[in-house]
Amino acid sequence: MRAWRIAVLAGDGIGPEVVAEALRLLKAPAFAHLRFEFEHAPIGGAALDAYGDPLPPQSLDTARSADAVLFGAVGEPRFDSAPRAKRPEQGLLRLRKELALFANLRPATVFPGLEHASTLKPHVVEGLDILIVRELTGDIYFGQPRGIRELAGGEREGFDTMRYTESEIRRIARVAFEAARRRSSRVCSVDKANVLETTQLWREIVSEVGRGYPDVQLSHMYVDNAAMQLVRQPRQFDVMLTGNMFGDILSDEAAMLTGSIGMLPSASLDEAGKGLYEPIHGSAPDIAGKGIANPLAAILSAAMMLRHSLRCGSEAARIERAVADVLRSGARTADLEGGTGAAVGTRAMADLVIAALDGRA
Ligand code: NAD
Repeated sequence: MRAWRIAVLAGDGIGPEVVAEALRLLKAPAFAHLRFEFEHAPIGGAALDAYGDPLPPQSLDTARSADAVLFGAVGEPRFDSAPRAKRPEQGLLRLRKELALFANLRPATVFPGLEHASTLKPHVVEGLDILIVRELTGDIYFGQPRGIRELAGGEREGFDTMRYTESEIRRIARVAFEAARRRSSRVCSVDKANVLETTQLWREIVSEVGRGYPDVQLSHMYVDNAAMQLVRQPRQFDVMLTGNMFGDILSDEAAMLTGSIGMLPSASLDEAGKGLYEPIHGSAPDIAGKGIANPLAAILSAAMMLRHSLRCGSEAARIERAVADVLRSGARTADLEGGTGAAVGTRAMADLVIAALDGRA
């Protein structure tokens, strides 16, 4: 069996700390049957220091030639006043664009025992397991024409263009339906078809794609209602399919339902299923270097990588069950623990997950 080539772009702050734990997990005896070649490359502040570029060409090449990219986080306060092109975050934005990652997958999961971390009532979020599939390269964020122009009379007007082609809608819809098949087989497509022509086409094409997936139940919901339903009765959702802007807003709302930023992984995929896998949190400079960051978002990102790019779904599920077991046993990193002083550190949390894998063959 050939080795999977994984580009490891750990980045700044707690990025390298949590990615190191995800790598330790992938190298654990439980996964000895999988072969990996890890290739490390700088990105973000670390790359700016070494090469004056947040995404040096050799890092891009490493990411391009790999089967998947495992990413940590970028961002350092000392670059806050640097020109835009010289900021660490530009490295990630450019990488997503260069790799044509059009499909963003963001799970929002509440693990048993963590219901109280949410600001919603525990019985509302108990068992929550949503996957938001968001289109990432189109919509009003990229549509032309756009700008700020001066009207006759001197008043200025800002304008943007919402647009989606049929093929763009079709490819993201397929990602959602395929993902739903691996879950509870329900897709809720979010639009504003009562007001916006772009999303009228969206609804038409999603329905057409849906006819090719008779085993998946498709529903449609207006975005304003979806925002409301997410806090009213979030467990009604399995896969939520959205355009770029609606998904931007709803995925952050869904993340907050879980109340724990250190727990949430994400994936961004290209047309061939190659992906970049990253925790949704940033570089957390306030806790970097202290050994207290929660490594579970990075570990669950590695699980997503196994499932979506490497087609190792059973190994991915094994990691997810091990994480659930560890949380059920009561182990908590500082972000989840609420100041009782009984928190475990980054490495200790990863050790517990690795140990739990053995009980989960
Ligand atoms: P952040 O996600 O880094 O931190 C927000 C809060 O959550 C902080 O209190 C932090 O300590 C805590 N936190 C985050 N991850 C944690 C973890 N794994 N375990 C425990 N606690 C955790 O967001 P921010 O403070 O707004 O941004 C910090 C830097 O990160 C900025 O430079 C920002 O631009 C960058 N950023 C990068 C990404 C990315 O790389 N994808 C995403 C968001 C922010």
